[in-house]
Amino acid sequence: MSLVIDTNFYGGAITVIEAKDPRNVTLALRPDTAAPDIAQWFHFRLYSTPGVALTLKIVNAGKSAYPGGWEDYRACVSPDGGITWQRTETSYDGSVMTISYTPVSGVTEFAYFAPFTGEDTQRMLGKALQDPRASLDVLGHSIQGQPIQRLLVREGSAKKTPVWFTARQHPGESQGGFVLQGFLGRLLNAADPVSRALLGVAEFHVVADINPDGTRAGNLRTNAVGANLNREWEAATQERSPEVLCVREEMKRTGASVVMDLHGDEALPYVFIVNPGDVPGMTNEQHDRRQRFDKALLGLNRDFQTEYNYPPSRPDHAAVKKLSPWATVNLGALAMTVEMPFKDNANLPDPTEGWSPDKCRRLGYDFVAALASDLVK
Ligand SMILES: [Zn+2]
Repeated sequence: MSLVIDTNFYGGAITVIEAKDPRNVTLALRPDTAAPDIAQWFHFRLYSTPGVALTLKIVNAGKSAYPGGWEDYRACVSPDGGITWQRTETSYDGSVMTISYTPVSGVTEFAYFAPFTGEDTQRMLGKALQDPRASLDVLGHSIQGQPIQRLLVREGSAKKTPVWFTARQHPGESQGGFVLQGFLGRLLNAADPVSRALLGVAEFHVVADINPDGTRAGNLRTNAVGANLNREWEAATQERSPEVLCVREEMKRTGASVVMDLHGDEALPYVFIVNPGDVPGMTNEQHDRRQRFDKALLGLNRDFQTEYNYPPSRPDHAAVKKLSPWATVNLGALAMTVEMPFKDNANLPDPTEGWSPDKCRRLGYDFVAALASDLVK
């Protein structure tokens, strides 16, 4: 059986240079569709003979958006059409990344991280909508005309304390989709007393994919015109970032007591919430709330930690063009950028799966109680 490599599906991305010899398959990361300098995400299907070892060389890994992301990285593989994912032996010499795997079935999927596709998003929203406390509307449209969907979870008709979740500003950071599965699963469990108490005081506005064009294209960081949506919050426009514009205007209308913006970090092998640093105008009360939230989450989920983070001096950190600083300053929110690894959690490593969809779901599950500690008096 000759080798076949396919990316002609939702989120598929790799460039094939040569795929004749299974021991020397030469590939290149394909850049974001309108941002030629940003290459990192990959997801492809490889059809080959089971039992015949594969060696895949990604020759431009050293020129990717985050070359540090390949140090101690292991690629994700699925032998069953994306139902289960595990890690496989991967090495990086500073220039070329080499992935080794012996297929157990006729088609293997390889990906940067377990994908969370548009269908996965629709199924997650559809499942939530089986609950009468959940409703859905379309806030606007992406550059390519896809709907920007907002799931609202509210018990009763009276307005409650608004909490916003956003995921996929950086579309390759699929961790956010799995977090929302865990979060919504617990929030809507009518037998869970913490969820019931939380829904007694708060309502949840969930934008599960704010960048559907980027997700569909298999981009890491940008939308269909190359905009990094997490740099658009101060000056969003219909031409460049309609995805942010429609969400931002609705956030201004509803207000937000908490904003949780879900991300993945290419380099750091830890779960963390970005250091608030010196956001101008951030109040002592916001700092205190954040400290209490961190403490509550530490007690609930040992994947989360507060030791490793971005240095507070990152030059653009406080810029309100990012969602969390923007919502901190403009909405007075406790606004948090949640970062999860693409690699593994070095504090609690998992040799088989690395950082995984299940661990993302568990983190989302624990966000329910962490938010309850902040919002339920
Ligand atoms: Zn991100």
